[in-house]
Amino acid sequence: MSEEQEMIRVEHLNKSFGELHVLKDIDLTVKESDVVVLIGASGSGKSTLLRCLNFLEMKNSGSIIIGGEQIEKKSHDLNKIRQKVGMVFQHFNLFPHKTVIENVIEAPTQVKGVKKSEAIKEGKALLDKVGLGDKYDVYPSKLSGGQKQRVAIARALAMKPDVMLFDEPTSALDPELVNEVLTTMKELAEEGMTMVVVTHEMGFAREVADWVVYMHEGRIVEYGHPDEIFNEPKEQRTKDFLSSVL
Ligand code: ADP
Ligand code: MG
Repeated sequence: MSEEQEMIRVEHLNKSFGELHVLKDIDLTVKESDVVVLIGASGSGKSTLLRCLNFLEMKNSGSIIIGGEQIEKKSHDLNKIRQKVGMVFQHFNLFPHKTVIENVIEAPTQVKGVKKSEAIKEGKALLDKVGLGDKYDVYPSKLSGGQKQRVAIARALAMKPDVMLFDEPTSALDPELVNEVLTTMKELAEEGMTMVVVTHEMGFAREVADWVVYMHEGRIVEYGHPDEIFNEPKEQRTKDFLSSVL
């Protein structure tokens, strides 16, 4: 690969659910350490695009290249690919009957075969990093939404992914808890994690994104640096969307 390594390259991606053509000829390249923020109205296909990148949904046509390797359902172990691409959802999906540290070590020990002692050591370091060093042995029900989401981030990081996908990670949170999660994500970005983030937090997009992608009805309508997209959008649809959310 070239000096500026491509982490994700999507070309001519199409995805339909039955008759509904949801992703229309999507082209997207994400370089290593880039933070790409996807914005767009509800139903424009943002989640479907993320889910295709993580192979939770299967494309109908086009190509998806992750880390230089073209991924095909037939010839790949999709569980392996999913380990390279971590995902954080709006709803945290923690195991309620497991403690915080047990949540974090579950996948490394069960899926990757990491030794439990090693997984615990690494898991604790990740929890320290997301500011939950005092919550290792607590059950999720005792945590705030912001804390749960930070556990979910630590849990995804425990698989040592090359890319992290975030699908509206703060949309289910009370407003006063949004910032602690955005701060954790910002720190991750500063460490050089490659990230694709769907969010309505335009402040985060302005501050942290290298690129902002505006989607409308299954197409990428506009793509640019945050300054360009927020200060001088070229497309009328982008302007209309931004004036509805800003
Ligand atoms: P966004 O995340 O931008 O709100 P989505 O990707 O969730 O958009 O959805 C895009 C379109 O695809 C919507 O019309 C939605 O109803 C439809 N859709 C999403 N997932 C499915 C599914 N599993 N089956 C059928 N339709 C779906
Ligand atoms: Mg969505």
